[in-house]
Amino acid sequence: MSLSREAIVNYLKEIVGPQQVITDEEVLRRNSIDRFRKYADIHGVFTLPLPAAVVKLQSTEQVSRVLAFMNQHGINGVPRTGASATEGGLETVVENSVVLDGASMNRVIKIDVENMQATTQCGVPLEILENQLRAKGYTTGHSPQSKPLAQMGGLVATRSIGQLSTLYGAIEDMVVGLEAVFPDGTITRIKNVPRRAAGPDIRHIIIGNEGALCYITEVTVKIFKYMPENNLFYGYTLDNMKTGFDILREVMVEGYRPSIARLYDAEDGSQHFTHFADGRCVLIFMAEGNKGIARATGEGIQEVVARHPECQQVDSALIEQWFNNLNWGPDKVAAEREQILRTGNMGFTTEVSGDWSSINAIYENVIRRIRTEFPHADDITMLGGHSSHSYINGTNMYFVYDYNVVDCKPEEEIDKYHNPLNKIIVEETIKLGGSMVHHHGIGKHRVHWSKEEHGSAWYIMQALKEIYDPKGIMNCGTIFPRTK
Ligand SMILES: Cc1cc2nc3c(=O)[nH]c(=O)nc-3n(C[C@H](O)[C@H](O)[C@H](O)COP(=O)(O)OP(=O)(O)OC[C@H]3O[C@@H](n4cnc5c(N)ncnc54)[C@H](O)[C@@H]3O)c2cc1C
Repeated sequence: MSLSREAIVNYLKEIVGPQQVITDEEVLRRNSIDRFRKYADIHGVFTLPLPAAVVKLQSTEQVSRVLAFMNQHGINGVPRTGASATEGGLETVVENSVVLDGASMNRVIKIDVENMQATTQCGVPLEILENQLRAKGYTTGHSPQSKPLAQMGGLVATRSIGQLSTLYGAIEDMVVGLEAVFPDGTITRIKNVPRRAAGPDIRHIIIGNEGALCYITEVTVKIFKYMPENNLFYGYTLDNMKTGFDILREVMVEGYRPSIARLYDAEDGSQHFTHFADGRCVLIFMAEGNKGIARATGEGIQEVVARHPECQQVDSALIEQWFNNLNWGPDKVAAEREQILRTGNMGFTTEVSGDWSSINAIYENVIRRIRTEFPHADDITMLGGHSSHSYINGTNMYFVYDYNVVDCKPEEEIDKYHNPLNKIIVEETIKLGGSMVHHHGIGKHRVHWSKEEHGSAWYIMQALKEIYDPKGIMNCGTIFPRTK
């Protein structure tokens, strides 16, 4: 028989101590959602079941005991660290869920400059780790826009990616070793070794699990030398995205690895670069690292761009200025809330990826279809996108859209705007051989589409869920539907 709400709270208090079990109703309300429902949140409308409690976890051992208890009684747990999620991963869709808050596990355990790795508990904000490293002349190389908000556990759980990824890779390229707790309370440690080849890489059971397979308690990432004095910035305006994609491809194929390689279309570019974009697309590069490498990368970029005479170079100081003002901390989140309340204007981003031969078609088709087919196209105030994170075989594309919420209740906004708009993005991307990358806005809603559109990945995830979480207690709101 399932435990009552009151019994769950009492047992939790016994396990971790009463101070660490929060049941204040306002806190529970805020913890029933994440930024995917930011419009409803701003209007104080909370429609999902409130969690039974938020548990402030202090140690791996506590995580283990709490999970074992929840597994025994079939209680749904939603892991959380920085709470910067944008896609529904923190929603408590099951009655009497428990939010497992790891933000207090915030110790930087070791900065090991001989082995070039840093180990932290799951609740260390990336910015704190990064500041400590920079003070010693090192960096993680990880720079998501949410750097001031996101914490190490969540960054690994979401397969996050940062602005410098063309050089440093995404989190999956950075993680060396991990500690995690599975639903039955088993603590797993994956060693910090440079490589392993005994079967599939078990780090990938944990990286990107979105809190649906295990609780990440400790993370070890690679570190790199930090040499900002060698940074070189390049910016260009150009007529169309196709030329920009060609340049990105040529830079990658020639073997250069800029840390930033970004291409904005005119709409998106005009938001960030009003002072010089002049209605054109904008192409941006940053070269960094050791002086000789940065210089050679910069020269290579300029050589490639020179093959495309329609590109007009802009003052590099403008690009450096943009780079220094990229991240979102609590101040920008608060300002956004105020702005949404005042104007009803909502902004979202959806990320996809495609190879070089399909990315321009994905971009063009999505924009055309949204403009012509999306039933509320008249409410859209901005529709554009940028490419970031380039690889030897292709690149990512972020569709960026703002719409004015018109004639709908706060709780109807997602179904009226977000889902139909994203459906077009998904359909076009999949049709042209690309893939959804997520992290902004698809989230749990992929559950409805993923069986058909994610193919084998969907089945593999279901199989992992059966193995690691047979009772189906971990984060039933995310990419995995409740199986039991
Ligand atoms: C303004 C803004 C900009 C952003 N920019 C980027 C960007 O550039 N790149 C990017 O990748 N993302 C970006 N994001 C999305 C978000 O910041 C990332 O997904 C980030 O990795 C989430 O980290 P977090 O600590 O806040 O996790 P949370 O929001 O707390 O949780 C996110 C997900 O991970 C799970 N989770 C959290 N902690 C754990 C744990 N210890 N063990 C297991 N599962 C866990 C949760 O259940 C949830 O499903 C942005 C978000 C905002 C608000």
